[in-house]
Amino acid sequence: MSTLRESRPTYAVIDLDRFERNVEVIARSLPEDARLVAVLKADAYGHGAVEVARRLRADRVAMIAVALLEEALELRRAGIELPLFVLGPLSKDQIVLALDHRITIGVVGPEELDLVCEIARDRDVAIHLKLDSGMGRMGVVETELPGVIERIRVTPRLCIDGIYTHFANADDAADPFTEIQIANYDRMLAVLREAGIDAPLHHFANSAATLRGFVRPGDFARVGIALYGPSEITIATGTIEPVLRWRTEIMRLKELPAGHAIGYGTSFHTARPSRIATLPVGYADGYDRLLSNNAEVIVRGKRAPVVGRVSMDLVTIDVTDIPDTAVGDEVTLLGDGISAEELAKRSQTISYEVFCRISARVPRVYRDGDTVRVRSRFAE
Ligand SMILES: *Cc1c(COP(=O)(O)O)cnc(C)c1O
Repeated sequence: MSTLRESRPTYAVIDLDRFERNVEVIARSLPEDARLVAVLKADAYGHGAVEVARRLRADRVAMIAVALLEEALELRRAGIELPLFVLGPLSKDQIVLALDHRITIGVVGPEELDLVCEIARDRDVAIHLKLDSGMGRMGVVETELPGVIERIRVTPRLCIDGIYTHFANADDAADPFTEIQIANYDRMLAVLREAGIDAPLHHFANSAATLRGFVRPGDFARVGIALYGPSEITIATGTIEPVLRWRTEIMRLKELPAGHAIGYGTSFHTARPSRIATLPVGYADGYDRLLSNNAEVIVRGKRAPVVGRVSMDLVTIDVTDIPDTAVGDEVTLLGDGISAEELAKRSQTISYEVFCRISARVPRVYRDGDTVRVRSRFAE
């Protein structure tokens, strides 16, 4: 690959077979007639939305959901034919564009509903209506329901295809807030139904709620993070595995005496004669600065600690305890047992952000059967 030949040996390898297996494991775990919505926003959480979308099949996935209209259009332009859903919010121009490209929109409040109803004077418009069941962010709140019902009633060309909500705390099994949100959602659904408004589709579960078994028969489940394997997760239908491996190589290796400083701020001093390796990766690539003196990498199957500060373009590790280490050795930053969740805990964030922060400077390499494709921002 010419792009890889001209690039640093720092890149992320995306295992599309694994991605497809994760989709399979999750889809098969859903209750009767429930269907998977694959959430590919933010470039499929940094994995590359077009590449992973090409591995989704209509018999496994009902829709692809993204956050932005631009993300949906990128998939359409790449020839993705699966139904697309934009979580929004959208401007009026964007709503028209979405409809023109057969992209389903989630309407997140009365303001957006007004725009949709204006457009529905001249054409048929199908939407999913979002309810705020307690998160306080997007969605129609309970006190807004009468106005929303009235608006829908006087707009005959508007069709409500789906009704949905989103959970704030589904990843915390000890917190009863998800059950409270479900009760709020059901109460709001009942108000709509009493007014003669319902939809053929309903959905509320994200990854955490799906893995906890909250999905109802016949519903959709909007699953994002679990598709990518933030750590290894075993459920009844199989094991969800990490899809992305972020690797680099040792470019500089030196022997330093005890008491030698390492890196900016001289935050680390060798306690013994040490072998220190320098890696061509840094916080500009998304390797968080909070991992300074606070992470491990894999070299020759063993863990080696990050020592000193993470700089913009470089990281230093201590390989004193790994015999025979040499320049050119492969180093795994994420993967091979180092999960996104591990790096997230160490850098005080969540696995989602660990994935999303792997920057465009890091090429994505796709092994697909016998072929290798490279996606690099330097390739154009
Ligand atoms: C991002 C998102 C999801 C997916 O959440 P995960 O926790 O990644 O499964 C589902 N629904 C909405 C509305 C979202 O914004």
